[in-house]
Amino acid sequence: MIFRPFTICPGFVRAVLALAAAIGFACSARAENIELGLPVGCEIGQTCYIQNYVDDDPSQSSRDYKCGTLTYDRHNGTDFRVPSLAAQRSGVDVLASASGRVLRARDGVPDAVGKPAREAVRDVECGNGIVIEHPGGWETQYCHMANGSLAVKPGDDVARGQRLGRIGLSGLTEYPHLHFTVRYRGAMVDPFAYGAAPGSCGGGESLWQPAFRAQLAYQDRAVLNAGFMSGPPTMELIEEARADEQSLSANSPALVAFVRAIGLKAGDVQGLVIKDPQGQVLAENRAAPLQSNKAQYMLFAGKKRPPNGWDHGTYKATYTVERDGKVVLEKRLELAL
Ligand SMILES: [Zn+2]
Repeated sequence: MIFRPFTICPGFVRAVLALAAAIGFACSARAENIELGLPVGCEIGQTCYIQNYVDDDPSQSSRDYKCGTLTYDRHNGTDFRVPSLAAQRSGVDVLASASGRVLRARDGVPDAVGKPAREAVRDVECGNGIVIEHPGGWETQYCHMANGSLAVKPGDDVARGQRLGRIGLSGLTEYPHLHFTVRYRGAMVDPFAYGAAPGSCGGGESLWQPAFRAQLAYQDRAVLNAGFMSGPPTMELIEEARADEQSLSANSPALVAFVRAIGLKAGDVQGLVIKDPQGQVLAENRAAPLQSNKAQYMLFAGKKRPPNGWDHGTYKATYTVERDGKVVLEKRLELAL
């Protein structure tokens, strides 16, 4: 009994030490974690979209941090996509996501529209890019920037949010986007699920600043482009955003509504219905269930001009994606003639 204080005390001391170590560890772990701002000067879900996340699956299959399909095998970053070439040309800034020092930078790789030959971009897959070194062993990398747009050079100190250049089409890329990679002590990490156990589907910690987390909330499908045209749409027309410029009139040869969506899954059922100013169905396209996941998919519905031209009034189009009888994505459009 006499020794009890001593037997308790060392235990207590051990507990205090363990607690201190735990607090110390928690503090240092928290202090070590980088806080990331948005690396792009656009609004996620409005003027740009996340096309791909990090592949969190170590095997040959792929899986994003929510165990979803928005990635591909060995993808080591997050892809922020602008919806069209026209939007890219109008200029979307790439921003430093945290303060640090520019470690490496490359400019001078041409912006190339269309799928590049792998040979042509060998050793320059990242295209025009920047690597920034941050305190505590963190690095961020920015790829596929526009040729001639780099605004910083190695050795420059940059502040979070500082403009680094513009989103482009350089290196191994088929559409305008920023590929953004985060590394800690040389190893790639997923900024949406830092430290997640493999296969945890949503575990780990977000490295994004709290102010951006709502904007960055996971969206498993999204409408990238939608509009009306006076004829059949093509991917090229959508990329050139001609649809937005197209002024339809009562004499237009056809009235077509189109949608390009990303993140669609095998089994999704898409529908697109156009109603005339009287509320009658003018055209409808109900697609067969998708046979496979689609990184992007275009659907349209339309009708040729009636002999007396188009009635004046408001035409309404509704695009839906259904799954198991439930609408999982919807977009409504209006056209005043
Ligand atoms: Zn990428």
